[in-house]
Amino acid sequence: MNDLLHIISEPALNVPASPYQARHFIDGALVDSADGRKSDRRSPSHGVVVSQAALGGVAETEAAIAAARRAFDDGRWSRLSGKDRARVLNKVADLIERNEERLALLETLESGKPISQARGECGGAADLWRYAASLARTSHGDSHNTLGPDILGVVVKEPIGVVSIITPWNFPFWILSQKLPFALAAGCTCVVKPSEMTPSTTAMLAELLAEAGLPAGVCNIVLGHGDPVGSLMTSHPEVDMVSFTGSTAVGKRITATAGQSLKKVALELGGKNPQVIFPDADLETAADAVTFGIYFNVGQCCNSSSRIIVHEDIADAFVDRVVALSRKVAFGNPLHPDTQVGAIVTPEHREKIDGYVRAAQEAGAELCLGGAGLSVPGLGDQFYQPTVIRRVTPDMAIAREEVFGPVLSVLTFGSFDEAIALANDATYGLSAGVWSENVHTCLEFCRRVQAGTVWTNTWMDGFPEMTFGGVKQSGQGREIGSYGFDEFLEVKSMVLRLGRTRVPWVRNT
Ligand code: NAD
Repeated sequence: MNDLLHIISEPALNVPASPYQARHFIDGALVDSADGRKSDRRSPSHGVVVSQAALGGVAETEAAIAAARRAFDDGRWSRLSGKDRARVLNKVADLIERNEERLALLETLESGKPISQARGECGGAADLWRYAASLARTSHGDSHNTLGPDILGVVVKEPIGVVSIITPWNFPFWILSQKLPFALAAGCTCVVKPSEMTPSTTAMLAELLAEAGLPAGVCNIVLGHGDPVGSLMTSHPEVDMVSFTGSTAVGKRITATAGQSLKKVALELGGKNPQVIFPDADLETAADAVTFGIYFNVGQCCNSSSRIIVHEDIADAFVDRVVALSRKVAFGNPLHPDTQVGAIVTPEHREKIDGYVRAAQEAGAELCLGGAGLSVPGLGDQFYQPTVIRRVTPDMAIAREEVFGPVLSVLTFGSFDEAIALANDATYGLSAGVWSENVHTCLEFCRRVQAGTVWTNTWMDGFPEMTFGGVKQSGQGREIGSYGFDEFLEVKSMVLRLGRTRVPWVRNT
């Protein structure tokens, strides 16, 4: 099997000689934990320790929240002009670009993703910071000039306050940049917690924030586990909002905890995203997009198109095409620039992926490619083969749950209504795609599919201007775009009476 795949074992970059030391960033200072505790992160591809991160507890989290609260309340950031906030955010963007290589290397070593994708993620994130900077200057409210000759209504937007930002391991720097610059542009102050598996690029950002001139206490970073750090960031009375990206299970826990103090919660959660392929589609392009959609980030992607729904007349030929392309995708050492698919994040996760594949086979699905772990010479076996499974039925776990691996499930349909029913038969609703040369088919699909984003004749094109988020159990609230920015703002109505025209309520008899 392996000799039929494209496997790259040699590196182009070396693993650094000593691990990166990641520290908390609290009230403008880089600090270790008071008790000195640290956690090691091993590269999923190379098996060696690549970072050591301070492991935060209650003391560090309390200190970070207190610093953010002080910084918000004294107005050192929240009362700055949009122009001044934008100046700092634009400087951060420049520094991100200047440090792209350093960030990308750590992102690759901690996550297992290919260096080319880590470069795109880290360097590309600068554009999110610049777009957020533009919003800091253009944000505005409404005025109502039709309420009567003596009344003017003004609606203003204000920063919501202290925001807890909790991020996952699969796109650590990108997801941080989908949240933090927007919260800062709005005038909020923040406490950030990255995943314990990928803390370093968030910790590196602290250095860049300080260099760009962000005032102390405006952004605080605590490294550590969901409990106690994340849970305290969610329950603490001095926090006004929680912005979370991660699994639906943890998202539900966060909503329940934050609900105790009625904090605002914005959630970006899992997906089981379908691409529907009609017979009149450009099948060559669709097959390439399906291949990209399932193997990008080793399938460990909220937007992974882990199920395709193909018209029954073209299903066999289409699957053959995807299998042929899958054999050409370069799997292997993430430190080589040609590698397209790297390692699975942990051995436990690799087992979980394999469990879905076994269960589907036992339930009658048919393996067309892969279906087992993969050893890369010199790098061990924390990899998974490109896998395509057909004759998947909607009741199977592999068709309903996030596999989060390079595993494509194929379902088939006969009519348009059946395609829509299959696409919408999911607890998730993050994204969906349609492939057809008929504009009517595409438009009707876009209107009827239950998803926060719909791609037609493409997959996973994203822009800071285009808001992102999910329906159903894929989340609540929106991220990026002007709608994502608005999540970090409260709206205040001001009613102004002009002149002494108010009629007294108490009768002066
Ligand atoms: P996860 O839910 O296990 O962890 C996410 C973050 O939450 C981590 O920082 C973790 O330490 C923290 N956490 C864990 N328990 C917590 C608690 N009780 N209170 C507060 N914080 C807690 O998710 P993961 O495995 O890191 O990431 C993968 C998941 O993220 C997938 O489900 C994927 O679909 C989802 N995701 C969604 C999007 C999106 O935009 N919709 C993007 C990327 C990833």
